[in-house]
Amino acid sequence: MSITENVAGAVSDLPAMDHVGRVDRLRDAMGDVGLDGLVVTNLTNVRYLCGFTGSAGVLLVTGNHVHFVTDGRYTEQSRSEVGSSGVPIEIEISASEPDRAIAARAKADGVSRLGLEENSITWADHTRWVKDLLPGTELLGSNSIVETLRLVKEPAEAARIRAACAVADEALARTRHLLNEGPTEIEFAMELDSTMKRLGAADVSFETIVASGPNGAKPHHHPGGRVIADGDLVVIDFGALVDGYHSDMTRTMWIGDVGKARERMFEIVLESQQAGMEAVIAGVEASAVDSMCRQVIDDAGWGDAFVHGTGHGVGLDIHEEPRVSSRSAAILEPGHVVTVEPGVYIPELGGVRIEDTVLVTDTGCDRLTRTPKTPQPG
Ligand code: ZN
Ligand code: ZN
Repeated sequence: MSITENVAGAVSDLPAMDHVGRVDRLRDAMGDVGLDGLVVTNLTNVRYLCGFTGSAGVLLVTGNHVHFVTDGRYTEQSRSEVGSSGVPIEIEISASEPDRAIAARAKADGVSRLGLEENSITWADHTRWVKDLLPGTELLGSNSIVETLRLVKEPAEAARIRAACAVADEALARTRHLLNEGPTEIEFAMELDSTMKRLGAADVSFETIVASGPNGAKPHHHPGGRVIADGDLVVIDFGALVDGYHSDMTRTMWIGDVGKARERMFEIVLESQQAGMEAVIAGVEASAVDSMCRQVIDDAGWGDAFVHGTGHGVGLDIHEEPRVSSRSAAILEPGHVVTVEPGVYIPELGGVRIEDTVLVTDTGCDRLTRTPKTPQPG
């Protein structure tokens, strides 16, 4: 038996990503806020802009240069990953203090208004930049400038998320029957995880949630030794990682006879999730999708038991912008990838959550997670 079957397809067969276009768009966005340089310290943003997947690296983008600094562990990796991004990038290997090397380069480039990513540097880092690294240069906190570019997925990014969703779909199709055999939560989670990896996932997207019976009332339950048994609702929330991109899907199954109250919970959440999916279309407020889902659950009298927002963006991070919640100010655009995942959690009955990852389009949405929502494990 071969170890992998690779439902995801080889990464080299996926369409190439447009790092050059991303750096161009970043320069435009920097111009709009009056920055002539940006220090990118968030490693997900570094990856987005130059393809580097290691755990230490800083990027400086100025009007005419892109400079990348990492340490000696990543000499070869940065040459191959950053070197193949198509962006002209100077790579510098610095044994210590990569930020000092970046500061020196910013100075050499004559940067006068330099942005630092305020969501990813510490107070101590900031103090060091102001007092030690670049005293006299105007330093500005930059909030989500790269994250905003990441909102709209290029076709090559959507292809990766689609592949990750296909792996998750196939993994659940192959394992769901095992729920009838009385596994523990952790046994089922391990089976699902290893199946995703056999099918081509580089990793799981996040710790798989398998929450059975009363554990289902905890939306982020860690799977444990509870044996899945007749009468249980089982919430299964999981995802696959393909070339850095995530998928996110939840299905709720029921085992044997769960009784009328739990069946009704399932039906209401399913109806809520369908209402949310139907509301997704370019131009709609994300908060309106949330309220469509919430209305159905409110009408059933379980509004207080829907204890989280309706969804979130998915991409290089499993949770990213735009948020789909009552407080979100986001307007959905073509190319956004979001989840729709209402749930109801009642300690005496357990939990039901149903979640799809969808690509927003001009005419509605393209459902990327395709697993049917039938609650019987099969
Ligand atoms: Zn999820
Ligand atoms: Zn989610």
